[in-house]
Amino acid sequence: MEQHFPKGNKPRIVIVGGGFGGIELAKKLRNKNVDVMLLDKHNYHTFQPLLYQVATGGLEADSIAFPLRKIFKGQKNLTFRVTEVHKVDAAENTIETSIGMIDYDHLVLATGSTSNFFGQAEIEYNAMPMKSIPEALNLRSLILQNLEAAQIAADPLLRAQLLNFVVVGGGPTGVETAGALAELKKHVLKNDYPELNIDDVNIYLIEGSPELLGAMSVQAQQKSADFLHELGVTIMNNARVSAYDGAMLSLVDGQHIPSSTVIWSAGVKGVVLDGLNAEKVVRGNRLKVNEINLVDGYTNIYALGDVAAMITDEFPNGHPGVAPAAIQQGKLLAKNLMNIIEKKPTEPFKYFDKGAMATVGRNRAVVDLHKIRFQGVFAWFTWMFVHLMTLVGFRNKLVVFVNWVWSYFSYDRGTRLIIRPFLKEKSTDEELAVQNETKTS
Ligand SMILES: Cc1cc2nc3c(=O)[nH]c(=O)nc-3n(C[C@H](O)[C@H](O)[C@H](O)COP(=O)(O)OP(=O)(O)OC[C@H]3O[C@@H](n4cnc5c(N)ncnc54)[C@H](O)[C@@H]3O)c2cc1C
Repeated sequence: MEQHFPKGNKPRIVIVGGGFGGIELAKKLRNKNVDVMLLDKHNYHTFQPLLYQVATGGLEADSIAFPLRKIFKGQKNLTFRVTEVHKVDAAENTIETSIGMIDYDHLVLATGSTSNFFGQAEIEYNAMPMKSIPEALNLRSLILQNLEAAQIAADPLLRAQLLNFVVVGGGPTGVETAGALAELKKHVLKNDYPELNIDDVNIYLIEGSPELLGAMSVQAQQKSADFLHELGVTIMNNARVSAYDGAMLSLVDGQHIPSSTVIWSAGVKGVVLDGLNAEKVVRGNRLKVNEINLVDGYTNIYALGDVAAMITDEFPNGHPGVAPAAIQQGKLLAKNLMNIIEKKPTEPFKYFDKGAMATVGRNRAVVDLHKIRFQGVFAWFTWMFVHLMTLVGFRNKLVVFVNWVWSYFSYDRGTRLIIRPFLKEKSTDEELAVQNETKTS
């Protein structure tokens, strides 16, 4: 079999995942005396914070993705491969991938996270996740297909299913998605679908706890709820989903909402590769790491970002699953890997919390920068500025900026196209029952 990463005279570092953490680490290893191999199942980096804008027709998918080969153009010590990594063989210092086995001296897992349906197979099958560009495009197609189908639906129950949009999970992603759907309803649907009674379109936001944006300040929580109310979103707090069959959503308290579009943003879990010691996987399906991101029990396997849990007194569940935590860990790990290779002391990770923000449609956002908190138009501009600055690539920054300016003045959204119709693969009740059993056992 072809040797994918032959041993030269430099230590080999294999990084799995070209997300926020993986690319920061790889960039910081530029010109260092190591050979780096970056692997990702996609050939692009995804800017996840703007996925909801792709899903709601606000931005084109291309403007939130950036080719990984372009990021590392000219980085002589880096090789990139598109491949899905399946398994780690720690005893052999090898990983199993879709293009064959790859050897490493140091392995860094930066595989991020995926939607967590908490073992409920029926909900997982029927609800829409939004963690990747293909998933956001599926969602965009489904929303538009349902609106088209509603135009010709005679049955009132079917119309209600097609026109009720439910977002589950009141964290930043859920709040932003509900706000974007409400803007779509308010400014776009009434023009695009003149036959539609716009009052028939309903947007629900379901959250299990008493407040939205649980990790933010009380001001941000209250203000975001006010903003969503102003936009006509029905917020249901202390509400938990018990079942969803693709047509009817049921809540634990016995309420039902007919809906063909349920967007799941209620939780994430780390993407942990097979072959690793299951005892090292802690809450949220994250790998337990020490203060230099070394996975507990291993000597040359590291994990960072969403898939890593660095448990400290301050962060008993690990650091928050946000881009700055992944980026900061990637940056320090590059330094520490070189320290380890050069037999120098390592530096423990210290998280610098940059604060949190969420936008709720146009002109409205909430920002918590530690003790400085503000909401409204200025917060919205701050949100836009921060997201534009963190997007990878000048072209992407420009395209997104132009799109936002255009939408602001025209009240329009440019990408309401069903390019690739969304169709659920058929799965039988028996298959779902088996999946349910496997997940809960
Ligand atoms: C909808 C949404 C909105 C968000 N909004 C914000 C926000 O506003 N602010 C913020 O700070 N954070 C936000 N986040 C969280 C943030 O995106 C993550 O914390 C961050 O992406 C984590 O970085 P990471 O490097 O750990 O993983 P990721 O960026 O997720 O990258 C993981 C990479 O690993 C690759 N990969 C995974 N498994 C394999 C495999 N087996 N083989 C090969 N490649 C693999 C994936 O393709 C991906 O490229 C949001 C997340 C989502 C989903």
